[in-house]
Amino acid sequence: MELFDTHFHYYKEDETVSSYAEKARRAGVRYLLAAGADFEESRLARNFSNQTSGCWFSAGVHPHAASLFTADISMFDEFLPEPRLAAIGEVGLDYFYENSERPAQKKVFSAFVEMALKNKLPLIVHCRDKLDKDDAYEDAFGILSGFAGQGGKFVLHCFTGTNEWCLKFLELGAFVSVGGIITFPKAANVRELLKAIPDDRLLLETDSPYLAPVPHRGTRNHPEYLAIIAGYVAGQKKMPVEKLAELTTDNAFRFFKMTKDA
Ligand SMILES: [Zn+2]
Repeated sequence: MELFDTHFHYYKEDETVSSYAEKARRAGVRYLLAAGADFEESRLARNFSNQTSGCWFSAGVHPHAASLFTADISMFDEFLPEPRLAAIGEVGLDYFYENSERPAQKKVFSAFVEMALKNKLPLIVHCRDKLDKDDAYEDAFGILSGFAGQGGKFVLHCFTGTNEWCLKFLELGAFVSVGGIITFPKAANVRELLKAIPDDRLLLETDSPYLAPVPHRGTRNHPEYLAIIAGYVAGQKKMPVEKLAELTTDNAFRFFKMTKDA
């Protein structure tokens, strides 16, 4: 089985790059994408990918950090020539926590959307709203419609919105990645969402160190737990886990336009 964890965050306090990656490999997680949530973390993600075979990275500013990001986006140009840069992200809108003011979130998100478009890179999108509200989805949909209309490709990571919103984003060509939340007892809506996601648009992720799946919920997540998530998703889809692994890994390579021998 060769799984692809398409979204995790590596921090300095984690174990060394080699043992971190090795642990994932032993669990059948052969491919990895280290996501950047701010400039420093994007550098860490790049360094991680450069030390690991079958690993790529993304660079961006998370909506939580949007207000703090007052620099010019051109500082991210340093990542553009990197052969292992697979995407721009994690970027998006978060009106659930609203750690950053909405105008700052929209400004930073739009700037990275522009960067992705100009450099023909896919986008890793975080979008979350308060319960029963859809302002974040509406705003993100507006921005992503323009992006998709110009040929941009994006993935909704750890999406927890309604089926209705999911379908609207799917119409824009979205891929959707599913993580540990799907194993949470109260996440019936995410299990419902799974039925709406076409097989050829489904990706898997852990979002480590956050959102560890049951039975590790509440502990520090690690890409090795992707095997648990895959087993769970396969059960929901009534599909052998090997088949799900093959399907989602192929989807990831197609979405990120990468080749397996990197
Ligand atoms: Zn993330």
